[in-house]
Amino acid sequence: MAAVPETRTGLSVATPGGSASAATGGDDELVARLTAAVGGEVRAGERLAAHTTLKVGGPAAALLRAEHPSDLVAVAEVCAELRRPWLILGRGSNLLVADAGWPGAVVTLGRGFRGWVAEGSDVVAGAAEPMPVLSAAVARQRLAGLAFGVAIPGSLGGAVRMNAGAMGREMRDVLDSAEVVRLGDGGRLQRLDAAELRMTYRHTALPADAVVVRARLRLRPGAGDELAAEMAAFKQWRREHQPINEPSCGSVFRNPPGDSAGRLIDSSGLKGHRVGGAQVSDKHANFITVRAGATAGDVAQVITDVRRIVAERHGVTLVTEVVLAGFAGEPGVQDST
Ligand SMILES: Cc1cc2nc3c(=O)[nH]c(=O)nc-3n(C[C@H](O)[C@H](O)[C@H](O)COP(=O)(O)OP(=O)(O)OC[C@H]3O[C@@H](n4cnc5c(N)ncnc54)[C@H](O)[C@@H]3O)c2cc1C
Repeated sequence: MAAVPETRTGLSVATPGGSASAATGGDDELVARLTAAVGGEVRAGERLAAHTTLKVGGPAAALLRAEHPSDLVAVAEVCAELRRPWLILGRGSNLLVADAGWPGAVVTLGRGFRGWVAEGSDVVAGAAEPMPVLSAAVARQRLAGLAFGVAIPGSLGGAVRMNAGAMGREMRDVLDSAEVVRLGDGGRLQRLDAAELRMTYRHTALPADAVVVRARLRLRPGAGDELAAEMAAFKQWRREHQPINEPSCGSVFRNPPGDSAGRLIDSSGLKGHRVGGAQVSDKHANFITVRAGATAGDVAQVITDVRRIVAERHGVTLVTEVVLAGFAGEPGVQDST
């Protein structure tokens, strides 16, 4: 999935790889072509609600797992020929997929993109590594600098994409370089230095067609017990301040410069604001939680309401941190395709 631009409406919307215009052939052809090109299982019509932490979202025309960079290239080629968009799905912890679903290929990175090695104090890890697992594992090896990731329920690739961060630290502080597959350039493998990625608050200037497959992290020697205590404190803080046992996508909005989105939403009296099965959390105002039966449309409407009311009350236009996918043409919510 390409860089996540901010649209005029301040919504972070996934830009599909491949082409979304004038798709040719039905979903059956897409599934058949992907099955032939990649091998492995290709699932038609699988609800993406099952693959996101928000637990909402419609069907993918085709859902498959890539196990090798050549699988990614094959997906891009089939999508280009059939004029269908592709979407990289990490662990779905920062993704709001429309009820209409995704009209193309949704690709997850499989075990072929897992694993990590230490090279001195550097760690080279596959993009499918879950951040909590990787953070805890490198800490056990007494490597410091990634403890903040222990409570970020995404993948390493998603963390690079979003410049994920917590407790005052972010991926920018530890990323040395990322290896990406350029799907718009014949699948060329490219190494991008952190400087080239121009990482800013919850944003990384990754090329539109780039899929992160591996990353090199620059860590430093640390004391195992201190790291363990640090991670335990992070988890405890979250249990106390965030509704982590309810479906959500974490922080919905970025903090505006010099302020906090949660403070602005709370002081606008929006805690508990509900649309259908989605509501602004009573525990943390920058979280939207959902209950069984909620739709992506409910979540999107809460986002739209919150943005409108905060803009009216405080003159601040909130920008979403969560990435929206598949909302093309929906009123108030638009894709940047
Ligand atoms: C309870 C909870 C707490 C959270 N706390 C935090 C927090 O403290 N700090 C924070 O920053 N975030 C937080 N998040 C949000 C989220 O976990 C992060 O944004 C995370 O980095 C997303 O990773 P993911 O693999 O789940 O990405 P996904 O949600 O699957 O995808 C997000 C975007 O990244 C793209 N992407 C995913 N993998 C790749 C790849 N390999 N190459 C290129 N693009 C890719 C997707 O296409 C999409 O555009 C939280 C979420 C939850 C549910």
